Formats: sequence, C-alpha cells, structure tokens
Amino acid sequence: MSNNESLAARAERAAQIVKKPELYQVCEGCESIVVRDAPTCPNCHGYRFDTDPERVRTQAEILGKRLPTSIPPSELT
Ligand SMILES: [Zn+2]
Repeated sequence: MSNNESLAARAERAAQIVKKPELYQVCEGCESIVVRDAPTCPNCHGYRFDTDPERVRTQAEILGKRLPTSIPPSELT
C-alpha cells in the first residue's frame, strides 16, 4: 500500500539477482536480499546473512513473483 515498487520493477531486479546470486546475500532476520557488501540489513538492521547462492536465487524468485510461502520447484541443472 505504501511505497511498494511496481511488480515489473521487482521482477526486473529479481532477474538481475538470479543472474548473479554470488553478489547478494539473504538476511536471516527478514529474508530480504541485500548486496554482499552490506554489513547490516537496511530493513531490519540484522547482521546475520545466508550467502549461499542457491538460497539467494530461490529467495529472489519468491520476492520477484510475490509468491506466498510455498516454494516453487527449483530447477536443478
Ligand atoms: Zn533484514
């Protein structure tokens, strides 16, 4: 309701993250995706992150599509 990005913008950013998951990390506190360089989360000020690229990719897909809690089937290559 407030200052949400458009769905297209979110999808675009998610696509960028999925391409280079090693540049990002997932906040353990609020599950938002932040750049790997960030010392703390800009959302919740947490300092614990999951840097697993597979986790980042999965989380980016979830955020980009605004899916509910169900996890989409991952594409194993
Ligand atoms: Zn956070």
